[in-house]
Amino acid sequence: MSGLSYLCEYGGSDESESEEVTKKPKLPPPDLSKISTIPIDSHLDDPDQHNGRLRSFPHIRGNWATYAYIQYPQYDNLNELLVQFKEVVRTINEPSYLCDNLHISVTKTIVLKYHLISEFTTSLQDSIKSLESFELGFQSVAVYTNEEKTRTFLALKTDHFSKKYLLKITESIDAVLSEFSLPKFYEDPSFHMSILWWNGDWKNIISEKIEELNGILMKDSEVALNTVTIKKVDCKVGNRFYQFCLDCNGG
Ligand code: AMP
Repeated sequence: MSGLSYLCEYGGSDESESEEVTKKPKLPPPDLSKISTIPIDSHLDDPDQHNGRLRSFPHIRGNWATYAYIQYPQYDNLNELLVQFKEVVRTINEPSYLCDNLHISVTKTIVLKYHLISEFTTSLQDSIKSLESFELGFQSVAVYTNEEKTRTFLALKTDHFSKKYLLKITESIDAVLSEFSLPKFYEDPSFHMSILWWNGDWKNIISEKIEELNGILMKDSEVALNTVTIKKVDCKVGNRFYQFCLDCNGG
């Protein structure tokens, strides 16, 4: 099977769907036998549905919020760590929320025009299909805010070994983003998996606790020592979900 055959698309109902139906020839259904299906979130505009989280940009017809990420497949081994982390940061005077859909971002959230989706996703698969799959591991705790400083994230930073591979992925994806005149990832990417978040900017308070949090991570060998094999990059474009394989040239 060629690499591009792994590129799969789960369409959802959308205002622009009718345009697609009239223009596209009927294609055979994709072979999904080697791909696990992940439920698609529907995008809601009501901040109350998202623990007060606000959109960074307004919803405009024809603009599709898009981001690519590495899905973290293990959740259970984080539970013990989360309980201990929450205890350390309990002085924050704002409720904390668990990050659902644990992932490592490899793009910022960008806005894609509807008519570019197909070309863009095909280019993304092309750009990473020769890159190696790798072992993902974490080495420390870090704190981030979003660019607007309206949210704070407590995260696990990936280890140096994983960073080498993640950098190749972001460099390849950045080249595609440039072709489409879209914003690239950070100049100096700090790859991480957010696990807890708060509304507001709590970076200073959490930074004071980083040493204590790192001590807990180092004791919790399950998360700090166990690595997971990463073979694909996921991408959401509005309510559509795509998966792109790494190392899929010969397969
Ligand atoms: P994420 O969990 O991927 O959504 O990331 C949480 C936040 O980290 C995002 O809102 C990013 O804007 C922010 N961030 C800040 N600096 C960086 C950086 N150097 N590399 C990656 N993400 C960053």
